[in-house]
Amino acid sequence: MAIAAESQAGEKPSSEVSAASDKQRRWNLSDFDIGKPLGRGKFGHVYLAREKKSNHIVALKVLFKTQLKQSQVEHQLRREVEIQSHLRHPNILRLYGYFYDQTRVYLILEYAAKGELYKELQKCKFFSEKRAATYISSLARALIYCHAKHVIHRDIKPENLLIGAQGELKIADFGWSVHTFNRRRTMCGTLDYLPPEMVESVEHDASVDIWSLGVLCYEFLYGVPPFEAKEHSDTYRRIIKVDLKFPSKPIVSSSAKDLISQVKLLLVAV
Ligand code: AMP
Repeated sequence: MAIAAESQAGEKPSSEVSAASDKQRRWNLSDFDIGKPLGRGKFGHVYLAREKKSNHIVALKVLFKTQLKQSQVEHQLRREVEIQSHLRHPNILRLYGYFYDQTRVYLILEYAAKGELYKELQKCKFFSEKRAATYISSLARALIYCHAKHVIHRDIKPENLLIGAQGELKIADFGWSVHTFNRRRTMCGTLDYLPPEMVESVEHDASVDIWSLGVLCYEFLYGVPPFEAKEHSDTYRRIIKVDLKFPSKPIVSSSAKDLISQVKLLLVAV
């Protein structure tokens, strides 16, 4: 796998995980006690783990090289590691480092104790305005931070958001993100959360994340994304037309609806 062939295993990067004197030491599996499985992704498994020296609890994501290769996502993983490991924000999941062996790549991630936001939303059906506002303002702060560093996430959706021990939102999964000074033309992510300029594959920039923020705000309050349709082509058409409708139930305040409607105007100002 490219990442294994061309790069060194991650240095121990953080005082939270290890003492400063360990900085040059390479990580390997024997540095960790492995605990319960936390979940299963497309390319491997995630386990609760403890770094033996510091006793720091982390989430260890184990990815199988054969699966990464088969799906041709090595470059995506490389970009994810490169970008996420440099970001430091309370609402962005830390990536402390990585290492690999012959068959697997291991990502050392901050542990998000309350799991997936997506599951919370499914459980509650929709969030109260207060809860939605807390998440949206955290997300907005994290995106302002990313954009100031010229990082566009490009795949903001409930499945990519985790919840920390204090209930705080954490953006995870930077697999589609880019570091750019330029406008991008690449099509990526899930259709439901993409703005018209992206579904039409024309130039787009950091404003794609702001669009997703509006979509997410709607989904938090109504429980479904705004342009959802049975057919992919209908979602596509609804996005192009910005076919935004507010159902009568659940009851949502006019100021929240106004905020969602204003996203398009906000984009002009970005
Ligand atoms: P992923 O491969 O990133 O989709 O992760 C698979 C599942 O593992 C997720 O759906 C979560 O339930 C869990 N998970 C992944 N990363 C973490 C983390 N940092 N903290 C807690 N749970 C996680």
